[in-house]
Amino acid sequence: WVKTTGKRNYRFFDTHISEAVQSKHEIESELRHAIVHDQFIIHYQPRVDLASGEVSSMEALVRWAHPTKGLVEPASFIALAEETGLIIQIGEQVIDKVCAQLAFWSHTGQRLVPISINISPKQFHEVNMADTLVAALARYQVPASLIELELTESTMMGNSLEISEMLSRLQAMGVTLLVDDFGTGYSSLSQLQELDFDVLKVDKAFTARLEQTPAGKVFFSAIITMAHSLGMRVVAEGVETLEQIQSLKALRCDEIQGFYISKPLAPSTRQPNISDIAVHHRF
Ligand code: C2E
Ligand code: MG
Ligand code: MG
Ligand code: MG
Repeated sequence: WVKTTGKRNYRFFDTHISEAVQSKHEIESELRHAIVHDQFIIHYQPRVDLASGEVSSMEALVRWAHPTKGLVEPASFIALAEETGLIIQIGEQVIDKVCAQLAFWSHTGQRLVPISINISPKQFHEVNMADTLVAALARYQVPASLIELELTESTMMGNSLEISEMLSRLQAMGVTLLVDDFGTGYSSLSQLQELDFDVLKVDKAFTARLEQTPAGKVFFSAIITMAHSLGMRVVAEGVETLEQIQSLKALRCDEIQGFYISKPLAPSTRQPNISDIAVHHRF
């Protein structure tokens, strides 16, 4: 009896492993298919300026409109896309879609806020991302000042001359540069000092700790002080409660983003503003 179960378990385990391996190949080929068949869509999550209470920017977050699985979140495919290099093509499509969306919204005549685009390490290092962006901006007649780029600290590791030249070129065009997920990677304060970023997005782990321990506020406050003295604005990610917003205001944080304000939204006919997303909120 024991032996049989053991065998069954073994066989089950074995099948399970090969299924996992196969599914990685399957996902890769499905991703290739998705690129050709235009299955990626973008949702937009607003960021709010604490001083004005207005939407200051919106973050483009990719989703995979899978024919059978429904809307697939980036956590299920970005890592594999990065590993296989497919992120370069997906990233190009994201840039194209964001520019097309901005061009579409510009026809409403409203004053638009910039869109921030997440750039993965491979995308940043392996292709001339700046040229891709310049071409898309020209294609849709969108000013570079409506584009912000989110890069993580690990993407900038090494801080080569090539990297800083690329970043300066983008800034000279009018593109805003953000450090994403600050505090989670291999933070190097000297690197932060050398790279002249405009905005620091503090990872949601720090926001979550704000109300949990006294040290939570101490850390966040130190980050804000440092960023401000380096001339950067600070965005708190993952804001989910009113208490967090009140603490962040007291700490002089500049902007907030998170489910308390709004989840990522499917694009509508005009760019959302604060009255579309936060009518019930007072902060
Ligand atoms: P990220 O750039 O740090 O984006 C923030 C993520 O946190 C998003 O998840 C967002 O939906 C989620 N989030 C926002 N507010 C809250 C909150 O209050 N609480 C919690 N728990 N989560 C919140 P999403 O859309 O699933 O994206 C996950 C990650 O996938 C992104 O992290 C980014 O690293 C990557 N990603 C998304 N779109 C793209 C893309 O177009 N290109 C690349 N290269 N990466 C992307
Ligand atoms: Mg981001
Ligand atoms: Mg982030
Ligand atoms: Mg994050």
